[in-house]
Amino acid sequence: MESNAAKCNHKQRQIMWLAIFLMTHIDNIMPNADNDFANLTNLAYLYVIAMGSNRRHRIHGLPRQVLVRAMQRLNEGPTKIVRQSSIIESLPIGPSQRSYANNAIILASNLQPLEMLDWLKNMESEFGTRHRRRWTSRTLDLDIILWREAFCAADLSWCSPSLTIPHCHMRERDFVLGPVSQIAGSWRDPISGLRIRQLHHRLKKPLSKS
Ligand code: AMP
Repeated sequence: MESNAAKCNHKQRQIMWLAIFLMTHIDNIMPNADNDFANLTNLAYLYVIAMGSNRRHRIHGLPRQVLVRAMQRLNEGPTKIVRQSSIIESLPIGPSQRSYANNAIILASNLQPLEMLDWLKNMESEFGTRHRRRWTSRTLDLDIILWREAFCAADLSWCSPSLTIPHCHMRERDFVLGPVSQIAGSWRDPISGLRIRQLHHRLKKPLSKS
């Protein structure tokens, strides 16, 4: 017959395994704070979009107002904003002299990735002529950072000649990872497996001296 001590050990082991299982799978079991809005819409996909502007618009005004107006437009038609970060100011990169207003949003939509890219490019055109060279000033820049199916918290990748998801520069850009951490910190980069907030933390960490 099993002694009381043995029963006790057995129970402890069960509890320990249950705790390990929960810690490992908690993201898939619990409604995730970064995904708990998925059931607000019946739309199939969620996209994390990075937004930027460093040119005035003749009607909407300063870059910050351009982003506010662009968010209103992105709530019309086939996309719905389910979460938005604050708007930050960031220094220009490359030859452009003007600082940027940046933020990030999560869009719910039935659009497939290439359709989403088209929709965003049309939106950029609506806000002004695009400059062909990289890093030049622009009225509105919209980049797809991450995407997933709305009811499955697994982050997906996409690779085609015109579109790469995750966006290939997201890991080195503080002005992308900062706002994205606010709204999707627990989403994972499907390439490295790291969460967005981990990527951001690594980027901000000062380089250790060897
Ligand atoms: P940009 O100068 O940042 O507006 O990007 C120029 C081109 O990058 C676009 O016309 C897209 O075809 C391509 N591209 C590739 N991956 C992405 C992405 N994840 N989001 C947005 N544009 C992308």
